Amino acid sequence: MWLILAMMEKNMLRYFYFLVISVCTLSFAGCGIKNTPPGEDSVTKELFAMDTYMSLTAYGDNAGEAVREAEDKIHELDRMLSAGNEKSEVSILNREGISTFSDDSINILKKSLEINAMTDGAFNPAIYPVMELWGFASGNYRVPGTDEINDVLAHTDVSCINISGSDVTVSDGTKVDFGGIAKGYTSSVIMRIFEQCGVTSGIVNLGGNVQTLGEKPDGSLWRTAIRHPVDDGYIGVVNVQDKAVITSGGYERYFEEDGKRYHHIIDPSTGAPSESGLLSVTVISSDGTLADGLSTALFVMGSDGAEGFWREHSEEFDFIIMDGQGKIKVSEGVSGVFESEYDYEVVKR
Ligand code: ADP
Ligand code: MG
Repeated sequence: MWLILAMMEKNMLRYFYFLVISVCTLSFAGCGIKNTPPGEDSVTKELFAMDTYMSLTAYGDNAGEAVREAEDKIHELDRMLSAGNEKSEVSILNREGISTFSDDSINILKKSLEINAMTDGAFNPAIYPVMELWGFASGNYRVPGTDEINDVLAHTDVSCINISGSDVTVSDGTKVDFGGIAKGYTSSVIMRIFEQCGVTSGIVNLGGNVQTLGEKPDGSLWRTAIRHPVDDGYIGVVNVQDKAVITSGGYERYFEEDGKRYHHIIDPSTGAPSESGLLSVTVISSDGTLADGLSTALFVMGSDGAEGFWREHSEEFDFIIMDGQGKIKVSEGVSGVFESEYDYEVVKR
């Protein structure tokens, strides 16, 4: 094996590593990118942050600088936004009830509250007490009783979150969790960094959450594969430019007890893993933060709820969903750029 590697040309080796890393990204991330391998005019960086594998690629003259700045920003946001890091701004808020937020944390909190309002609470940034109860925060998983669930649900009211300038307070045991939106916010911020560096073509994959800038350097669209939630392989491929393609699936984080699977997307109305019947929700939008928040929210809403919600907001996003029976629905706005070997229904406005 090593002998074969040693015999390869340098460029071939680079391509080989890219393939290996891409395969790893696919298997860990749930959603993959199919793009051209990095050439002389591109820079790709693979890293682990926010509890997931990430890949950043920028093309053109300033690609190196853009990717370096993006990497620094990811680590900065990770330190700031993780409820599991006791020094983070959100962790201080959850522990002390008060915290001074940086601009990024304020932005993400405000956007979270907007998405909470527009989704009628299906996206709830105050879900952290429920995540703790089920052990998703610590890894000590357990199935809590109904009384315990009802007790913590009383502390998930977003009206207990108060913002005054850069000061944030929470009352009544409320705790904030950006886990459902942080990666989408981060990919949006990276797109702005790429642009500021003069990059016009790039793609990032943050643990299955993809965001693209411009077109591929050859002028074609980015081909983003959506992982099948049950079988090996993909639901299909969506071809995009300047868009985020963000997937939520119960298969991403879960535990099993007595033969039943409990995943990490919580229905805020029950305080338990959502049983909406959906297995995978992909949201496509030019706004990565919105796409991430909505992927979680639509998962909770279920198929009919997601359809109805999309009809009210079809200018802002599109979706690809799969339910437990394997039925795939694709909203009209992306049906023309979606390819799949499976049958699917196009949802019309
Ligand atoms: P992933 O992080 O696997 O990409 P999601 O974007 O759907 O998937 O985020 C799931 C995370 O969001 C959970 O781990 C938790 O931190 C948080 N979360 C769970 N349920 C909700 C909810 N209803 N509203 C907002 N955040 C949620
Ligand atoms: Mg999400």
